[in-house]
Formats: sequence, C-alpha cells, structure tokens
Amino acid sequence: MSRDNRKKDGDEADTRQDTRVVNAGRDPFSYYGFVNPPVYHASTVLYPSAEDFNARRAPYSYGRRGTPTTEALEVALQELEGPSCAGVSLLPSGLAAISAALLSVVKAGDHVLVSDSVYGPTRMFCDRILSRFNVTVSYYDPQLGASIAGLMRENTSAVFTEAPGSLSFEMQDIPAIAAAAHAKGAVVLMDNTWATPLYFRALDAGVDLVIHAGTKYFSGHADVSIGSVAANKDTVAGLKNFVGTNGLCVGPDDVYLALRGVRTLAVRLDRHYRSGLTVARWLEQRPEILRLLHPALPSDPGHDIWKRDFAGACGLFSVVFKPVPQRAVYAFLDALELFGIGASWGGFESLAIPFDCTNLRTATPWEPGGPTVRLHVGLEAVEDLIADLERGFAALADAAGSAD
Ligand SMILES: *Cc1c(COP(=O)(O)O)cnc(C)c1O
Repeated sequence: MSRDNRKKDGDEADTRQDTRVVNAGRDPFSYYGFVNPPVYHASTVLYPSAEDFNARRAPYSYGRRGTPTTEALEVALQELEGPSCAGVSLLPSGLAAISAALLSVVKAGDHVLVSDSVYGPTRMFCDRILSRFNVTVSYYDPQLGASIAGLMRENTSAVFTEAPGSLSFEMQDIPAIAAAAHAKGAVVLMDNTWATPLYFRALDAGVDLVIHAGTKYFSGHADVSIGSVAANKDTVAGLKNFVGTNGLCVGPDDVYLALRGVRTLAVRLDRHYRSGLTVARWLEQRPEILRLLHPALPSDPGHDIWKRDFAGACGLFSVVFKPVPQRAVYAFLDALELFGIGASWGGFESLAIPFDCTNLRTATPWEPGGPTVRLHVGLEAVEDLIADLERGFAALADAAGSAD
C-alpha cells in the first residue's frame, strides 16, 4: 500500500493516486458545498474573547501561520506523498523550499554532501550562503550509490539528492544513498520536482525531506512561483519550526492556483510523459543527434534505476547534438515556432534552451560530446512539435553549411 504509486501504468494503484489528485485536501461541505475552497486573504484572525486570545483557542491564529486555503494545498500534497508524510510546508518558490529544507537540518560546523548535478541555484545557495554559516559543502558524483558511504564524515548531517539531475538527467540510486546516509545518522533531502509524487514517492524510498518546485507541474500553467517541502515524522518538527520562525508564507492567490493545477496533474503528466517519449525516440533516430539524456529511454545509463523506482517520466529531457558550431545550435533554436526559448518548465507549453554544465561541475567533468539543448515537451499535438523540430534541423543544416 505504501509503495502503490511506484507501480506501472494501468495498475489499480495508479487509479488510486489519480483519484487522490482530484479529492485530496478537498472538503466542499465545510464551505457551503462549493467544489473548491475559498481564497482567504488574511492577516488578523479575530478571537471571540480575551481569554480565548490568550489561550490561542482558535483553529487559525494568524494569516502568516496558515489559512484554510494554505491548509487545503498542504493536506493535498501530504496525501499525494503517502502515509510516510507527516507534514508539508509551502514556500514562495522552489528555491526557497530548497533553502528552507536545508536550513531546517544543518547547523554551524556541519558537513553537507550535495549531488554534482543539482539545480544550479541550489549550488549557489550552498556555496554563497551555507558556507557563510560555517557549513562545509562537498559535491559528489550523482551516480554514486551505496559507495557514498565513503564520503560521509563524522559531521555529515545532510545528503542532498536530485533525480534525474537538472539539465543533465543522471539518475540516482535513492534507496541506496538513503540507507548509507541513515547508517551514519545523516538526513536525506531530495529535489523531486521532475517526477512529482505521482511518479516517485521519495519518502517511501527513504528520503526524509522532499522538495518540489510547485512552480513547475503542480501549477502547470507558467503563472505561479511556489515551492513545497514534505517531511517525515523525524524531520517535520524541525521543518515547521524553521518555516514558522522565519516568517515564510505564500500569498493566497498563488496557493489557490497551485491547488487548482494539482487537480489536473495526473492527466497533464500522462500527456507530457507520452509526448516527451515520442519526441525523444524520434530525436534519437536523427542523424544530427549524438544521444538523448532521458532516463525513460533504454539507451540511457540511468534507465534501470528509473524503471525500478519511478512510475513515469515528465516532459523534460536533454539532447546532445553531434559537434556543430554554436551558431548552428542557435539557428536550430531560433527556427522553432512552438518551442519557446525560456527558463522554467512544467507549464502547458513547449520550451527549448541551450545549456552548458561546465561551470556547474566540481566532482566530475561535464563532457557530453557535443552542444546540448534542454527540451520541455508541452501539451501541443506531438505531430506539430515534431514538424517544428524538423524546421529547426533544416535551419541547423543551413547554418552549419554556411561559411561565417
Ligand atoms: C525550477 C526548479 C527549482 C526552483 O523552482 P523556483 O520556483 O523557480 O524557485 C528547483 N528545482 C528544480 C529541479 C527546478 O527545475
């Protein structure tokens, strides 16, 4: 039961997770039968008497500390994470969720292990902020599994994971890393934005704090910044204490939009998954392409772990081109009409960006073998997306052939 969402498509278990997406955290008859919860714009909460105020006898104490709107999303996300989840906190962005989760478990003098393939701004936070508080950070090869035990120090208090890795899509053996970390008393954090709790329930795999950039698929419409941290019973008090005492909260309209997005998460993700794989398989056959970075493809080095642990894939993956001048890659991207050029992902629309991880690696060198592009496959007709990419390849050929 606790691992039911890790089964494959068509299982009865998936139907249950799909049903949870629709109903989790929803209690229409506590708000007059309306299907969705109201958006509470709130700071002050009034108490019936002075004595009640002093005893804090009220379901809600202050807007910053939570409203029925924030509670509806927190409860929904908690149900999606499964019975190992003891509580969820909302943060104003995915990056704020990452920093809050880390700060809720580390103290001065600690050592933290961070995957070399983490989201770039996570690295920046570790290098620029954690270091100022005398927390030592070292980066490890994301493909280390149980052997991460060899990097654990006496003062290692946290191991930060993200799978697949940002931009480069290396899979991580989360259960093996969690076991090794727990054996030395360290807490395991995971940025699970890519899979969402629908395709990987990280707490069930041994993770203690799970981070989601809700900006991506929870919201799903490229119009909200929000983040969440889900905690197990060992980490929930520290998380709630950190978020509460730092005064971190999210505006009610953004909370509402994220909850609204969650209701359609299962159908959207299913389409991103299938269209993404169709596009990836098509790209894999193109003569211009060296390889795909997509763990759901059997050719991917992380495929076996993905197949063992994950129930699906989202629409985000990368492509390595055979060596061509950079201007040819720009010509490819600029010729695309359906793929917009921009950061973030997880909305309904397709996106494409050039990237280079050279300066984002310290544990292992970044040597993909050619120029790299990240694609987000959106909800458009997949035939139209493929036609768009064909337009890109025509422009690439023109630019590669022309003398500059
Ligand atoms: C986008 C992203 C984040 C940060 O989310 P924001 O809401 O933009 O701060 C964190 N982790 C991953 C993997 C992301 O892709």
